Amino acid sequence: MIEAALQFQPTEARTFLQEVAARSGQNLAACYQCRRCAAGCAVGDETGFVTPNRLIRMVMLGDRDQALSNELVWRCVSCYTCGERCPNDIQTARITETLKKMAKEEHVPALQPKVAHFHDAFLESGVRWGRVNEMEFMGAYEMKNAFLEARRFRFGAIMSEIRQQMRLGLAMLRLKRMHMGFLKSGGRAEIQALRRKSQAARAAR
Ligand code: SF4
Ligand code: SF4
Repeated sequence: MIEAALQFQPTEARTFLQEVAARSGQNLAACYQCRRCAAGCAVGDETGFVTPNRLIRMVMLGDRDQALSNELVWRCVSCYTCGERCPNDIQTARITETLKKMAKEEHVPALQPKVAHFHDAFLESGVRWGRVNEMEFMGAYEMKNAFLEARRFRFGAIMSEIRQQMRLGLAMLRLKRMHMGFLKSGGRAEIQALRRKSQAARAAR
């Protein structure tokens, strides 16, 4: 595997760094590349050369293309191990989440479409009900995946996924870990108002 060289984009670097820092709430400029985060990343075997410290370096150099489209952004499982190990308390999970949102806003294709579907279905269910209803959320997630596979004419993959999810769903029902109904949270109006506010702020940028 050949590592892609990072591109320093002087005109982009400052604004991109400021935007990611503001949206993630993380002080990326404090990173001194000690790589303690990289040594403990839970998905390090699956992300090629992109480690948490390297992702931060991409942002600091203004390499927007690579920062918005790499395996770590799509495979990070938000375990927060990197943040626990970081001497400067930088939570890379917040940075990957921010870059995922920015990639979506800029219509950058997701390297892991199923992760993008999971993300979308979770968010939509949470905003609609103020909490996630497992049946609705998993149904929406599986529908999105099924459309993706149908476009690729992979109908066997759709059936296999349905069988697997049904087995999982039944096991969860037996263990009382899944609700069949739709539960609402009392604070959902506030969540919806927050979303409208963030969409308005984004539109004004
Ligand atoms: S542990 Fe923290 S300071 Fe060290 S490289 Fe990772 S993010 Fe940077
Ligand atoms: S939060 Fe993400 S980047 Fe950090 S260690 Fe876990 S998987 Fe790796």
